[in-house]
Amino acid sequence: MAERRTYELGRMTWKEIEQILPRNPVLLIPIGTVEEHGPHLPVNADNLAADFVARRAAEATDAYLVPAINYGYSPLCSDFPGTISIRPETLTLLVRDVCGALVRQGFRRFIFVNNHGGNQPSCEQVARELKAEHGLIIGNIYPWTIGYAVMRDAYDEPAAVYGHGGEPETSAMMAMYPDDVVTSLMASRDPVMTGPFKPRRDNLIEIPGQSVGGTIFYDYGDFFPNGTTGDPTQASAEKGRMWIERVVSFAIDFVKHYDNATAAEPWARRPGDPQVREAD
Ligand SMILES: [Zn+2]
Repeated sequence: MAERRTYELGRMTWKEIEQILPRNPVLLIPIGTVEEHGPHLPVNADNLAADFVARRAAEATDAYLVPAINYGYSPLCSDFPGTISIRPETLTLLVRDVCGALVRQGFRRFIFVNNHGGNQPSCEQVARELKAEHGLIIGNIYPWTIGYAVMRDAYDEPAAVYGHGGEPETSAMMAMYPDDVVTSLMASRDPVMTGPFKPRRDNLIEIPGQSVGGTIFYDYGDFFPNGTTGDPTQASAEKGRMWIERVVSFAIDFVKHYDNATAAEPWARRPGDPQVREAD
């Protein structure tokens, strides 16, 4: 493959983009949201981490980075200043339209780098609609969740420190964007019961006499006055560098595997296209 001037679609001209089309590249679409992440992390944390991981993965593979979708569905945090939540219907239509525009031009292979749980239903809906209509199989990388899975050995008690604005998110942000972590405002989780329920973490409450939690759809502000559900005081840049190493290498391997596994699939070629990969 010829040397790339850039892996960012948004910095390429339409002529350059036209030239990569026959190669049928994998496109990475970062998706996030603007929401509070505790008193110490920027409201763009989900977006910044999605961008970081997607960027590193595109750079290390043959994939291209699509300009990001930076607004998402964050109703749990809506009362915190700076949170900007859009309706799930709006997000679904936005993701759908972005993909639709690229499908129309002949792009067939997409991986969402969605870094916010509230967006997952919209992403899945769009992926399933595009599968039904065009046969496409869309991938999804969720950096925070991958981080939870691969960082457990870095903590004595992961369950006690993991959480929204807790760990390993804070460590990751310290390593990726040190200037945007306000360490002087870092505080451990301090749940305060303002209603009739005792909270555990996201949407889970204690049921008296039961070891299993019950589901209640509350807002973070109802129980977690500082917007953190984990313990960021365990954070360090060193753990963050470990997070980057592990999460980025997962993302790179995911993209390479998806690329190899789908290159020869009939749905991955534009209708009427010959075996374009062999002509490379
Ligand atoms: Zn989020």
